[in-house]
Amino acid sequence: MFVPDARLPDSATKTPLWIPVFGNRVVVTTTADGVDVVRGDDSGIATDAEPVLIGVLDDQPVWAIDLGQHDPAKPEGGVDIGDSRESADLRALYGRLDETLWTIAGRAVQLVEFARTSAFCGRCGAANEDHHRDRAKQCPACKLMTFPRLAPAVIMLVERPVEGSSNPNETEVLLAWGRQFPGRFYSALAGFVEPGESLEETVHREVREEVGIEVTDVSYFGSQPWPFPHSLMLGFRATYASGDIKIQEEEIVEAAWYRADDLPPIPRGRMSIAGWLIEDWLERVGS
Ligand SMILES: [Zn+2]
Repeated sequence: MFVPDARLPDSATKTPLWIPVFGNRVVVTTTADGVDVVRGDDSGIATDAEPVLIGVLDDQPVWAIDLGQHDPAKPEGGVDIGDSRESADLRALYGRLDETLWTIAGRAVQLVEFARTSAFCGRCGAANEDHHRDRAKQCPACKLMTFPRLAPAVIMLVERPVEGSSNPNETEVLLAWGRQFPGRFYSALAGFVEPGESLEETVHREVREEVGIEVTDVSYFGSQPWPFPHSLMLGFRATYASGDIKIQEEEIVEAAWYRADDLPPIPRGRMSIAGWLIEDWLERVGS
């Protein structure tokens, strides 16, 4: 079991794990059947960077090391990462690295980024210090606390009954091709939470803004850390209430209602909560 910790407990006596990070890429060891995190008494990488404790996995301390920013012109940032190793961004490591380790690597990337961006107080400019207890920095001059940046976002799968279907439980879902997607596929709508909003209010607002419809029966589904670069995805199910689809063209290429037997390209598998939401729906409608 992984236990997050900013200070090394006495029980962490086993061989450490290392997550070297440069830019937002992670250095891993290449093995016969995939990749593994770097293991050993030290990382085997010559660097002056102070390691950051991420936590403890089954009595093994897990350390992140900041190797600096990634310069595409210099592979591995000019650092000798050692033999039988490679670097890759988190998305490319999904499915190659053990899932628990992948999640820990996501934490490491975010905490390294926190260390990079919180060296100085945002209010008075003094050099920050580590907080004595929390995963935070504190300014010794003005006492301002700085926490790792985390941007909550909601993702919602909107359903409605299929008109004229002989099966009263058959539903269709609203899927959209977002302009920011890396390719042509269709997924649940999503958006960031604004200050002062409840999560349910964000669901209503985002659906209204992106496709012009109203929803009801908003219910929580589950959550997922999404370290690209620092989101927390909160999944919801919702039911169509009223309105016709009218897309916000700056964000959406196309949106429509889809039945389980006539789906466009969709995210599959467990990497994203969008995939879980859609698979959960497919199971419920019996496809
Ligand atoms: Zn300050």
